[in-house]
Amino acid sequence: MVAIRRAVRVTGVVQGVGFRPYVYALARELGLSGHVGNDVHGVFIEVQGDGVEEFLARLPADAPPLSVIEDITVAEVEPQVESGFRIVESAGSQSGEVTSIPPDTAVCEDCLRELRDPDDRRFGYPFIACTNCGPRYTMVTGLPYDRANTSMADFPLCAACEAEYTDPGSRRYHAQPTACWECGPQLSMPVAAVVAALNQGQIVAIKGIGGYHLACDGLDSEAVDRLRRRKQRGDKPFAVMVADVSAAERIAVLDSASQELLASPARPVLLLPSRDAGLQGHVAPGNSFIGVMLAYTPLHHLLFDAGAPAVLVMTSGNVSDEPICIDVQESQMRLGAIADVFCHHDRVIQVACDDSVFRVIGEVPQPVRRSRGYTPSPISLPRSCPPMIAVGGEIKATAAVASGRRAWLTGHIGDVENLETLQMLERSVGVLADLERVMPEAVVSDAHPGYMSRTWAARYATDNGIDHIEIQHHHAHLASLMAEHGVDEPVLGMVFDGTGYGVDGTIWGGEILLGGYDGVQRVGHLKPVSLPGGDAAVRFPSRVALAHLFAAGVDPNGTAAAQSTDLRLVQQMLRTGSHCTPTTSMGRLFDAVASLLDVRQAVDYEAQAAIELEALAVGAADPWTAQVEWDGDDLVIDPAGWIRAAVDSHRRLVPVAWAARAFHAGVAQAVVVAACAVRDREGVGTVGLTGGVFANAVLTRDCVAGLTAAGFKVLVHRIVPPNDGGLALGQVMVAGAGS
Ligand code: ZN
Ligand code: ZN
Ligand code: FE
Repeated sequence: MVAIRRAVRVTGVVQGVGFRPYVYALARELGLSGHVGNDVHGVFIEVQGDGVEEFLARLPADAPPLSVIEDITVAEVEPQVESGFRIVESAGSQSGEVTSIPPDTAVCEDCLRELRDPDDRRFGYPFIACTNCGPRYTMVTGLPYDRANTSMADFPLCAACEAEYTDPGSRRYHAQPTACWECGPQLSMPVAAVVAALNQGQIVAIKGIGGYHLACDGLDSEAVDRLRRRKQRGDKPFAVMVADVSAAERIAVLDSASQELLASPARPVLLLPSRDAGLQGHVAPGNSFIGVMLAYTPLHHLLFDAGAPAVLVMTSGNVSDEPICIDVQESQMRLGAIADVFCHHDRVIQVACDDSVFRVIGEVPQPVRRSRGYTPSPISLPRSCPPMIAVGGEIKATAAVASGRRAWLTGHIGDVENLETLQMLERSVGVLADLERVMPEAVVSDAHPGYMSRTWAARYATDNGIDHIEIQHHHAHLASLMAEHGVDEPVLGMVFDGTGYGVDGTIWGGEILLGGYDGVQRVGHLKPVSLPGGDAAVRFPSRVALAHLFAAGVDPNGTAAAQSTDLRLVQQMLRTGSHCTPTTSMGRLFDAVASLLDVRQAVDYEAQAAIELEALAVGAADPWTAQVEWDGDDLVIDPAGWIRAAVDSHRRLVPVAWAARAFHAGVAQAVVVAACAVRDREGVGTVGLTGGVFANAVLTRDCVAGLTAAGFKVLVHRIVPPNDGGLALGQVMVAGAGS
């Protein structure tokens, strides 16, 4: 009888997830001989024996939980004389497509059990981990993914750990982060001391997986206010951490989709309807949602087990606009004026990775920030693109590396408005390009001449002798939505955001675009208004309201916006047009309405007025109407009707909840009317909702319902955020199409 031997190659997220021991166990069970190993491409296997067919059938079906198989190729090879099945040494660097590093993962149930077992040798050990859990991306220094190429190279294994690490039957076989009290990383202070500090109302800087957190007792309003003051945070919401799902249910309303996401291995922060008005008032004033996450590192569990406050504020350890701290010295320098106590550890964080943030819109989770737990999982692209990097926009920056049919996004970087964030952008994209072995042939940025990221891209291109490609902001938004859905046919994009540089040099943000990666046609937009002071008006919704009142021909006297002290100056600017920039921004329209309903006249953080307006929009109300009309080939949404309705509602003391609800419904109605108008001329059947304005759940729900009822297929974001955090994905798609 002739022996059967096959060479098998598996690509995807297959390293650092227990894939080799899984293959080993399966081959042994089926009595096969051969070997398995890692190289930069993924996992290579040779199997020989009668059970080869069964092996190939079961290989993808029973794969380990954290693995993501992209492709399996099988080739016939010559049978060999051999016995037994072996795990072979990792092969070094080669060129070509490479394997993917897994994201950082919450401590698993098995490790948690050992953590709490007084008889286990890792009882209470804050860095317990195995092949199914622990840090990955944030501790990798190179490929292949082996201990020598991680921060764990600093911690030689003790005899007991070594025995597990080399035993294919152990769940710590080649688990790179594995360690114990004897040989592994240590905290700089006892868990009990951290708990005591928190219970005394102190602010503790805690080094975690992808950076430092600033923690304090969420139920101690004085401590929360102190943290807010020291961090110069204004009214910007804090996220909180609780021990488990039942603790989360005490402070927030959970449905099954949110429970599942909250407890998933990625453990994102989830924005949930709040149950506790007192807590809400301090942690996220003016919001109806509270950002909640569950304990995800062994240390977090140890803190709650040891009696830490049941609700901990856990906010990124940074100074207002700077990136999150990852380094011991740096954290002491930068967070010294904020934290009372520091809890460090000695495992090096190679690259920062902030917590991810999601919200659930009608059972569908939507990312607000895609970072820890997701970075650097690749996103499959509907088209192949040449090797390139993309740097995103300015705020909520996230960069991307792409090659072939895959794109990898960095973690959340922040607002690239200072040198520190720019350096983090540079480092994050460099790390990712190295890990994925992408040698960029082009660097892609937004077209805004004032963005630091664009300037950086231009210099990077010159320094490296590669192309610099600029992509229009809203085109990139639409392409990102299409890419994550794998769509490659014309889509009608409702691209609504705060600010983006338009091809005519004005500020866009209420755009109706038709097309795809190769190009878009601007078929319509919100009617432009003159913004006094340009982008600076972002901080003052009252100014934006005055601009809209001026455009709508409504007398500002007696409106809520008129109390703004610079009324005469702003009106002067509007009349003469000096220092005014035309804008079609939908985000600014939300600001204007928030001002006219006297919800907010000045903001502390981006989109605050719109977020508070959304929070007020409850119940049901008849939509406010606005005119949507063709002006030649230009479909124009004129917001004047909404502006008049807002002024009128405020004057007649209509409840703000009702007015806010009617405005949201009105915008959704205009979206449906606009989509139908374009369909009548162009015959398009799919509408995409993208741009930061679609982080608004009320608006998104109304639009999806209305468009679906009108017979459209509707695309909303599920993988990358609708805000500028998703921009880089669209940038690579559009740049790739043009090259
Ligand atoms: Zn584990
Ligand atoms: Zn050990
Ligand atoms: Fe945008």
